[in-house]
Amino acid sequence: MSEGEGFEDKIVGIVPKSGYIERCPECKRVLVNDHCPVHIEVDPLEDLRVKASLQNSDKIAIFNGEQAEELLDMTLDESKEIEEDDMEPLIYGKLVGKKLKIKGREFEENIVVNGFEEVGE
Ligand SMILES: [Zn+2]
Repeated sequence: MSEGEGFEDKIVGIVPKSGYIERCPECKRVLVNDHCPVHIEVDPLEDLRVKASLQNSDKIAIFNGEQAEELLDMTLDESKEIEEDDMEPLIYGKLVGKKLKIKGREFEENIVVNGFEEVGE
């Protein structure tokens, strides 16, 4: 896969820790129990993230920020209103089975998405 071309695939699963998250402002790690594993006490950055498994790839597609908002058709503020326990089933219901044309770059076991469009259902 080269950047700019994109590929088509179908979302078949949602990886835990998808939804509203808080990150460390310095290293961008996701906070665990309100703490950064490295910087400990931080003033968190809010973000929306979706990690999705794909039918034809063993990598996980990661949608951050605006990409996640567009994919979920939901803003960051709206996502904060949803109970944590309700979030994953909601994401699952919205996304599993969707076919997308994805542009992104591979990073370790992930594909960091920087653009996508839906293709015919
Ligand atoms: Zn940190």
